[in-house]
Amino acid sequence: KILVEVQDLKKYFKTTKGMLHAVDGVNFQIKKGTTLGVVGESGCGKSTLGRLLLHLHESTGGKIIYDGVDITNYDEKQMREVRKKMQMIFQDPQASLDPRKNVKELIGEPLKNYKVCGTKEEYEKKVEEIMDTVGLAKRYAESYSHELDGGRRQRIGIGRALAMNPEFIVCDEPVSALDVSIQAQVLNLLMDLQDEKGLTYIFITHDLSVVKHISHEIVVMYLGQCVEYAKTADLFNNP
Ligand code: ADP
Ligand code: ADP
Repeated sequence: KILVEVQDLKKYFKTTKGMLHAVDGVNFQIKKGTTLGVVGESGCGKSTLGRLLLHLHESTGGKIIYDGVDITNYDEKQMREVRKKMQMIFQDPQASLDPRKNVKELIGEPLKNYKVCGTKEEYEKKVEEIMDTVGLAKRYAESYSHELDGGRRQRIGIGRALAMNPEFIVCDEPVSALDVSIQAQVLNLLMDLQDEKGLTYIFITHDLSVVKHISHEIVVMYLGQCVEYAKTADLFNNP
């Protein structure tokens, strides 16, 4: 079953030097429960592509189909419903984490915003459950994000993304700021979550070894265009 499909998707930015073709006619399909890796050098349009899927940019042309429904022209109100099933995680969540909130409160914030829990007990239990799911030990409950290493901060980011039980997560360079040993731990967490919950990912990175490790299929971008689109095994077995 296809969860996400884009057809001839485009995003042009108006700049002082004219139109910048950030995403210039990209096509792909992502099967439910799989990961599509998007790789390419800095500036080739990866982030813009990821943001288009969540309507964080307005597309210039083409189609976005989510779970069989054409959402290309959805307005903000319609997107609010769809977005409950979509989340995004970033390189370093630090910027979006309130420095006055501890780990427990940061994990709880989206639960409160979305009114996920009926009672205080339910809320406390859910926070503990999410901390456990993303591998944040209880002893960090009262810590602040700046006291933790990048790997644990990213676990907070992932925990916050899980509040609404999403189906689809846009992962934008989620391990690029981490030490290599910690990268593997976070990638393993993402893959375990995929297996347990049937999550579907777009995984954006400039790092070929990372994308090879985590992706079922890969799109290689260059100057806004898709120059390669293949199953990971086929791409790397090509002589
Ligand atoms: P990547 O994620 O592959 O590094 P981006 O998607 O961030 O690439 O950027 C693609 C191109 O679009 C770059 O040339 C970038 O400068 C440009 N760009 C990105 N966002 C904007 C914007 N909001 N306005 C104008 N240009 C943008
Ligand atoms: P749009 O509404 O066209 O989808 P946004 O509102 O997301 O675009 O654009 C964000 C802002 O970032 C714009 O005002 C844009 O001018 C600015 N910007 C300009 N150049 C860049 C760049 N290279 N990377 C990121 N943002 C940029």
